[in-house]
Amino acid sequence: MGRIVRTISKDASAVCSAIDGMDIVSEIRRIHNTSAVVTAALGRLAMGTSLLGFGLKGSDDSITVRMDGNGPAGLLLCVADSYGNVKADVANPGVELPLNSKGKLDVRGAVGTDGTLSVIKDMGLKEPYCGQIPIASGEIAEDITSYLAISEQIPSVCALGVLVDTDMSVKKAGGFLVQLLPFAGEEVISQIEKNIQQMQSVTQLMEEGKTEKDIALMALAGLEPEVLDDFQVEYRCGCSRERTEKVLISLGKDQLEEISRDGGTDVTCNFCRTRYHFTSEEILALAEKNT
Ligand code: ZN
Repeated sequence: MGRIVRTISKDASAVCSAIDGMDIVSEIRRIHNTSAVVTAALGRLAMGTSLLGFGLKGSDDSITVRMDGNGPAGLLLCVADSYGNVKADVANPGVELPLNSKGKLDVRGAVGTDGTLSVIKDMGLKEPYCGQIPIASGEIAEDITSYLAISEQIPSVCALGVLVDTDMSVKKAGGFLVQLLPFAGEEVISQIEKNIQQMQSVTQLMEEGKTEKDIALMALAGLEPEVLDDFQVEYRCGCSRERTEKVLISLGKDQLEEISRDGGTDVTCNFCRTRYHFTSEEILALAEKNT
């Protein structure tokens, strides 16, 4: 199980959420059979989406983050609930690229920088909230920071890291997101800047044995931080045969009758690869429900 922790400064003007996403990113690799660079890219986006989702207020709220940078990996899509549980999908999971000039996995090269990052928040209102920004960095954490600044006017700092081992398994994965409230003073901002400068990368900290809680406290060091909440998080899909039936019913009677004549169908969930089989007779029964 992964873990997500939220800390808050004593004056309540700064909040930091941090995640240990090792299990989540390992599930991404297992389900989608991702190459090293796509494990890193989709893993980072999934943890970023989890951290954003964890900030939603309603228990049924959800957030969808789409990153479409026209890179070889194609569209990256992640959905998280308000507890930080997340699921992910990518168009081209097997893309392989040479390491970048710093000798690191070339996430930016896989994602691309010619496109947009869009966020859809479903908060149970009539219309979901939508925000979109052009992708500037392609390294994902920076793009989440600019999304928060541009679309939500929230100053933030985000760091996300995935360390892939030589056998392609996920060695460490984690991240944090510091968000400032409008009344945060200059001294709070400069203290956080100082903290972040002094911190190593998230995966380095985790390799040294630091937990997500240590990291969430480190980011707010000097501001008398307290732990606000601490939850388990996981890769969670939530699809079911019943939900798949509803999607099929929405296709309409004519199309269902056509599928039935073709001898039934398989529907595979994009997020967890579960396959639901419907026989010709079952499809006909659904067609009847549509009328
Ligand atoms: Zn599923």
